Amino acid sequence: MSNILTLLNHEKFFSDVFLYDLDFSYAIEIIFRTTVMFSIILIFLRLTGKKGIRQLSIFEVAIIIALGSAAGDPMIDQEMAIIPSLIAFISTLILYRSITYFAAKYSKVESLIEGQPIYVIEDGKFSLNVKEAQTLGKDEFFAEMRESNISHVGQVKTAILETNGKLSIFYFEQDQVKYGLPILPKEYNKKTIDITVPNHYACTTCGETAYLHYSTSCSRCQGVEWVLAAKDCRVT
Ligand SMILES: [Zn+2]
Repeated sequence: MSNILTLLNHEKFFSDVFLYDLDFSYAIEIIFRTTVMFSIILIFLRLTGKKGIRQLSIFEVAIIIALGSAAGDPMIDQEMAIIPSLIAFISTLILYRSITYFAAKYSKVESLIEGQPIYVIEDGKFSLNVKEAQTLGKDEFFAEMRESNISHVGQVKTAILETNGKLSIFYFEQDQVKYGLPILPKEYNKKTIDITVPNHYACTTCGETAYLHYSTSCSRCQGVEWVLAAKDCRVT
């Protein structure tokens, strides 16, 4: 502890952290290196053939990390030349191009690299045994559904989690909307394990709905937490 304090009090510590051996000519060199590396990044991202990026698949994130780390060092490290980094860029591009080529040709390669679309909602209820939906986290998932003006799960016929992390949603017709688990925070947070008033309830774990007279466990997933089910239509 006392060592850290001496270090912090020391002027050298601050000059090491903020400046190290930065002088005017090195600063100019950094500007030059950054301009070169930034141009290389742009050129290579264009060469991958992608138009723009909204949602990234894991595979694309890997490419970005690879290009990013190859580009970062030569920007600021005087001992790093640019050509080795360029070689890393070319290898990454070749890898990307050949993997996308094989992924387009063989669906097994595609699902290995990108994963597969997953059903998260079927017939107004959460699909059971969906580990991916659990790792996605209910909060995030509910937020995404609310952005599509969904107030309860009974409005959704099918929802599929795409490999790029996007949620594709197919709705019930207005007259087919079922009782469902409300996902608006105020309603959802009224969840309880004590049922005293008979009514339509939705299981907070799997979205199963039932007309309940007293506290019981969910017939579908054995969950014990319920919330008053909603049945209103989706208004956009
Ligand atoms: Zn349930």
